[in-house]
Formats: sequence, C-alpha cells, structure tokens
Amino acid sequence: KYMTTAEIREAYLKFFEERGCKRMPSSSLIPDDPSLLLTSAGMVQFKPYFLHVREFDEGYVGATTVQKCVRTNDIDIIGTTGRHLSFFEMLGNFSFGAYFKKEMCAWAYEFSTEVLGLPKERLYFTVYLDDDETIEIWKSLGVPEDHITRLGEEDNFWRAGPTGPCGPCSEIYYDQGPEFEGEKPGDDGDRFLEYWNCVFTQFDGQEDGTLAPLPTKNIDTGMGLERMAAIMQGVQSNYETDVMRDLIGVGERLSGVSYKSDPATDLSLRIVADHSRSVSFMIADGILPSNEGRGYVLRRLLRRAVLHGHKLGISGPFLSEYLTCIIDLMGSVYPEVVDNRQLVEQVIRSEEERFGATLRQGQAYLSQALKGLQSGQELDGLTAFTLHDTYGFPVELTDEICAEAGIGVDRAGFEAHMEQQRTRARAANTKDAEAAWSTYGGVYAEVVKKHGASEFVGYERTTAC
Ligand code: ATP
Ligand code: MG
Ligand code: MG
Ligand code: MG
Repeated sequence: KYMTTAEIREAYLKFFEERGCKRMPSSSLIPDDPSLLLTSAGMVQFKPYFLHVREFDEGYVGATTVQKCVRTNDIDIIGTTGRHLSFFEMLGNFSFGAYFKKEMCAWAYEFSTEVLGLPKERLYFTVYLDDDETIEIWKSLGVPEDHITRLGEEDNFWRAGPTGPCGPCSEIYYDQGPEFEGEKPGDDGDRFLEYWNCVFTQFDGQEDGTLAPLPTKNIDTGMGLERMAAIMQGVQSNYETDVMRDLIGVGERLSGVSYKSDPATDLSLRIVADHSRSVSFMIADGILPSNEGRGYVLRRLLRRAVLHGHKLGISGPFLSEYLTCIIDLMGSVYPEVVDNRQLVEQVIRSEEERFGATLRQGQAYLSQALKGLQSGQELDGLTAFTLHDTYGFPVELTDEICAEAGIGVDRAGFEAHMEQQRTRARAANTKDAEAAWSTYGGVYAEVVKKHGASEFVGYERTTAC
C-alpha cells in the first residue's frame, strides 16, 4: 500500500509509543559529545542512558524518535546510489535494559509486515556471525532459514564512532526485485535494500579498542525513513519519494532541465536536492561555514551544491528557493528550520555569493591545468592548494572535478602546502598575541612567548578535553 513520508513517520512513532516508549524530539545535528563531529544516528542523544550515567524516565520502557542525521562517510557517493543521502531522517527506538532482542525482533517483524504490510517473502535478515540466538528468534516468527544470513564486523557490528556504546546487530532488507543490481543482502547493489538496523547494544568501546560490557543489555534501532518511503511508494530510489521529488522539482523549475532526461543532469539535480537539506538543517542548528570541523563539512556541501547548480545552468544565488520548499515539507516536524529561516537564508546567500564570484575563475584555472594532463595522471599539489586558497575550492571538490576526467589529485603534495600555510599562520598569530598580551605584562606575556598563540576551539567543543 502507498504511504507518504509523513504517514510512515507517524505510524512508526505511534507504534512504539503504544508499546511503552516515550516519544521524544530529534536532537541537534551538533552532538553533545566531543567524540563525534555530527549527529549521524538516533542513538547519539541517548549515550548517557546506555552508559547509565543518567537514568531514563520512570514509567517508560524506552524512547522513540525521528532523528535528523548527517553522515560524512556517505557524502562522496551522494546521487550515485539510490539509497544514500547526506541528510536523512532515522526512525528509532531505544531500550536501556528494559526490552531486548526477543521483543525487538517481534516488533520489527510486526511493524514491517502488519503495519506497513510488506510481503514476507521479500524480507531478508542478517545477523552477526555466531549470533544463533537471533537466528532462532527470526525463525520462531516464521522467517524461513534461507532468508537469514550471517555477516561480519563491517555490516553487523554497529558503532557510532571509535568509542562508546556499540554491539552486534541484526538488519532487515527488502528485495526490490531482479530489475535492480545486486545479488545478496550486504552487497553494494540496491536490489536488497537495507532498511532497518536493530543493534543489541551490550558494550562500551574503550580507547584501547577493547569492549567493556555495559551494565544492561540494550536496544538501539534505526530505520531509514526515505528508504522506507521509497519501498512504500514503489519508486526506484530515495530521490523519487514524495519529499525528495518535490525538492528535485525545485531544481527542474530553476534550471528548466527535466529529471530523467540525462544521467549527468540527474546527478546534479539529486546532489543539489540532497545538499539543500543538509545545509539548511546544519545552519538552523547553529553551524557556520568555516575551514575546519563541522563548518568545513557545511562549506563543502554548500559549495558542491553551488557547483552543481552552475552545471545545471542556474545563475545567481538559488539555494534559498529550496529552503522555502524544505520549510513547506518539513517545517512542522522540525520547527527549527522555520524559526531560524532568516539566519539560514543569510548564511547560504553570503556563502553562495562568496563562492559564486570565484567559481568561474577557479573552473577556468582548473580546466587550464587539466589540459596538460591525461587520464590516469595526477594534478599537482600546488595547483590543488591554489584552488583551495585563492578560489575557495574544497580539495574534495577539486578531486571530484578531476575524477570526471579520470585524473587523480596529489593529496600528499596538497597537504604539504597546507601545512606550510598553517606554520606561517601560527607564526603570525604568535606575533599578534604577544603584542596583545604584553599590555597586561607579566605572566601572560611569558605564557605566549613560551607556548605561542592558543587556538580557539569553542565551535568544536565546550570542555577542555
Ligand atoms: P548502508 O550499508 O546502506 O550504507 P548503513 O549500514 O551504513 O547503510 P546504518 O548505520 O545501519 O546504515 O543506519 C541505520 C539505517 O539508517 C539504515 O538501515 C538505513 O535505513 C538508514 N541509512 C543509513 N545511511 C543512510 C543514508 N546515507 N541515507 C539514507 N538512509 C540511510
Ligand atoms: Mg553506510
Ligand atoms: Mg549496511
Ligand atoms: Mg547498517
């Protein structure tokens, strides 16, 4: 049956609310956690409860949320697969010692087959290597043995980052049919579409790589809303779902190019539609473009969106047109984009203007440099550095443009030039700081002399370690 994105979101939250979970709002894309750059999963805001440094509200078995997520590891492949977005919504439910595997598997199966009405024969299940217990649970629910496979560390052991709560998991895949590429769950194709990850959060990953058991056995699950919408709407990819298709429509209107007319323009339409969401939500949560940390991720996304806008023939600043559509589609679920509309508009406008002015010159400079190179060769580090320093091209953007011509980029050479520049900047800062602090004399001036200028890191973290 057909369901809209909004209907799936509500059905999920209601289902788990009815089973005793507390419905809670999405947390910010800026995690309250110095080990993570951005919020990339629903569990991030619940870390203290898994660790039991904070106890969850009495009267509930756990929590259920729809969490806005940005994943940097997926940025480079956006638009090339049908199932990866840089910004997506993750539906989740979380237990901190209350319910565990048995309940969770039963509910996931019930929600999939009864609430969503997915045909049982299309569902496939994976478990972590020797997790026989979970195999037995799926079998007891009626899953045939040949629909269950064992996968290793990479797919079926989930962690948000190098440390913290983690554990083995079991995932559910939907067979989209033989017209899609792919042979089995866990491969790169889209045929077997992973839509739900159920993590059995039992460990706390330590700095040294070892796993310490958590005080309780917990549940952390994530279901991709856009992936489920694609399934329920019977479309080929996340980009053809109701919400994403409307955003692609904005690009069509602005450029006069129609979707599905040419693979190259399709890619650009997808990239801009996707990036417009990540950029808008990141700024609404208080991230500003910069040359490091999450500000750099934002800048990269923003500039790449502008580049692809230009490729589509859109001239002048255009991203705020997408913002209007985002507010219409998502503003009721995420009021922060409505409340911070002006800020988002201003930031994207100024970044668009700043980059737009040099984009053409940078592209001309780069295509000149590429003329002397053949497929298989490398662009030198100095050119990549000049593109970064003078024309504002994030090196990943240079990479991407070069890759279209089959040319690599000398990243080591680029980094060496970056390091030289940092050294120059540090020397200049120390001189400024010496001058400033010398007004106070005594110990401050001594400290600056000895250690150099300190770096402001308040945008990345608010504690000392
Ligand atoms: P994949 O293997 O397809 O990259 P994943 O294993 O990295 O997905 P998880 O970390 O298990 O994904 O996240 C839980 C769920 O969130 C996934 O099952 C999927 O439905 C959804 N999801 C993950 N990454 C994305 C993305 N980039 N875009 C849209 N949905 C995503
Ligand atoms: Mg992934
Ligand atoms: Mg996976
Ligand atoms: Mg997964």
